[in-house]
Formats: sequence, structure tokens, C-alpha cells
Amino acid sequence: MPRILDGAAIAAAIKQEVAEEVKLLAEQGIRPGLAVVLVGHVAASEIYVRGKAQTCAELGIFSEVVTPPETVTTQEMLDLVASLNGREDIDGILIQLPLPAQVDTKALLDAVSPSKDVDGLHPVNAGLLQAGRPALAPCTPAGVIEILKRSGIAISGRHAVVVGRSDLVGKPAAILLLHQNATVTICHSKTQKLGELTRQADILVAAIGRPGFITPEMVSPGATIIDVGINRIASREEFDRFFAGDQKREATFAKRGSVIVGDVHPKAFELAGAYTPVPGGVGPLTIAMLMANTVRAAKMRRGL
Ligand code: NDP
Repeated sequence: MPRILDGAAIAAAIKQEVAEEVKLLAEQGIRPGLAVVLVGHVAASEIYVRGKAQTCAELGIFSEVVTPPETVTTQEMLDLVASLNGREDIDGILIQLPLPAQVDTKALLDAVSPSKDVDGLHPVNAGLLQAGRPALAPCTPAGVIEILKRSGIAISGRHAVVVGRSDLVGKPAAILLLHQNATVTICHSKTQKLGELTRQADILVAAIGRPGFITPEMVSPGATIIDVGINRIASREEFDRFFAGDQKREATFAKRGSVIVGDVHPKAFELAGAYTPVPGGVGPLTIAMLMANTVRAAKMRRGL
């Protein structure tokens, strides 16, 4: 039986550690603060932002959600970011993506002060990360490393294959794995003979954004599979393709009209030595690492 890597439990442990750090900082009169910028009313984004604000409150971190209207311009957003950059009570700035089409997302991410870039998306932080210097690393890939380490899964000397090369997940995950002395292969949409490469993985990280893309034929028995993907499926046909006979998911599907599936086909997990489930694997780590980054930013900015 493959081992299930419980992301929720690992995230809870990290949040507990962060809460303790927040308490210690409070003794020095410091309260870390996170500003989340949420433009318009994208339902999924609103749920994520609510979760972030709630977790801040639980851990004693100050949070402020700024909600510009859907019609906001790039200049108005740049002015907002400049004001957050200058605020002493704000240590982390997170711009919830995606932004409306009229806003220049890149210009905006570049405008966030690197010292407050808790999403780790500023080119300065990306460069520091690549150079192996202290940096604010993107939360999801940092969470992937925490899952592996805290589950006692060896990384050094193992072959890690990362499918996906986004700036948000795949690329930083590959760099972080390299820094842990894995031998890393990065795959993407132009990769040829993908299955041959994924079958070589001791650690397979799937960050593709395609439901159930990694099939059992693409996995070597005993591999550790980290499934970063979050895909909502709402059609009966797709549900049956992944979850036919799964009573628990059947009940969720009947109630909500949709279920979440990762980038790895559930049948592929059966071959794994260990894997992160979806939901409950990598997802919970992303918020936990955001909290950890906010506290880290608060300390770094004060030279602590
Ligand atoms: P992107 O769309 O930015 O990147 C997807 C990557 O997958 C690209 O590098 C792309 O290659 C690659 N890809 C697409 N199709 C194929 C293919 N057929 N074969 C091989 N590679 C392919 O997505 P993200 O990195 O932002 O997110 C990936 C997944 O992770 C999504 O499901 C997302 O929802 C989830 N996610 C989960 C988070 C969490 O908290 N658990 C947080 C963030 C994301 P190319 O570069 O060539 O186009």
C-alpha cells in the first residue's frame, strides 16, 4: 500500500511553528502584517483570499484585504502597490492572480518591493533563489520541499522529474530540489518521450494544470509522487474516467456538482511508494508557507 503524505497535518505543524514565532516577535513589539490585493469578484480567488485572511488571524498575523474594482487600471494598481511598499505595518504583499486583462500583471509583480514579495515572484527573489542565496521562495514549491523533508523522504542523490516549468511552481520547485542535491529533469509541453522520463523519477512532481495527465504507464513502481495540480471537473464522463466506484467522491459530486482532481490519474497513485492526495496534499502547504514567508519577511526587513 502506498503511503499517503498528509499535507494538512504537515501544514498544521508549520502553522504552529509560525504562531510561536509570531508570539516571540510580539514580545519585541513586532506584529507581522500581510496585505492581500484582490481585484473584482472571481469566486475562486475570493475563497482563497478568505482562507488567507482567516489563517493570518489564527496565527496572530495582521492582515488587510484591499479590493480594487474590476475596472482598475495598471497605474491605479501601481499606486496602490507603492503605498503598500511604503507602509511600516505591512511586511508581505500578495497580489491575487489572475488580474483583469487591462492590468499589466508583470509590471505589477515587478513593482512589489522584493523585501515584501511573499509570493516569491519578483525577479530579484527568483535570481536569489537560483543563486542559492536567502530569498523569499514561492510558497507552493517551498511547500513541496517541506512535505518531502518532514515525511523523511530522501532527496539527495535521487532523480526528481518535474513536469511543468511555470515561474510559480515548476521552475522554482526544480531549483529547490536541485539545492537539496537531487538530480533534476524539467519537462514541459515540448518535451518528447515524456513517459520515458517520468518513469525514471524517484520523485515525480506534477505541476501541469491538466486533470489526471500522469497515467500509471508514466510512473515507476515505488516512486514518490507529488501532485501539485488542482483541477475542478464537473462532467459525469470525466468523473467516471477518474473516480468510477469511489463512493466518497460520488457523494461530493452529487452534492456539489463537481470534484477536484490533481494532475495525476488516481490509478497512478496505486503504484507509488508515497504520494500527496488531492485535495489535502500540497494545497494546505501553500497557505502555511505564505504565513511562514510573511514572518520571514518581517524578520528580514528588520535585520533579525
Ligand atoms: P501553468 O499553466 O503556468 O504551467 C503549466 C506547465 O505545464 C507549463 O510549464 C506547461 O509547459 C506544462 N504543460 C502543459 N501541458 C503539458 C503537456 N502536455 N506535457 C508536458 N507539460 C505540459 O500552471 P501552474 O504552474 O501555475 O500550475 C500547475 C498546476 O498546479 C495547476 O493545476 C494549478 O491549479 C496547480 N496549482 C496548485 C497550487 C496549490 O496550492 N496546490 C498553487 C499553484 C498552482 P509549457 O511551459 O511548455 O507551456
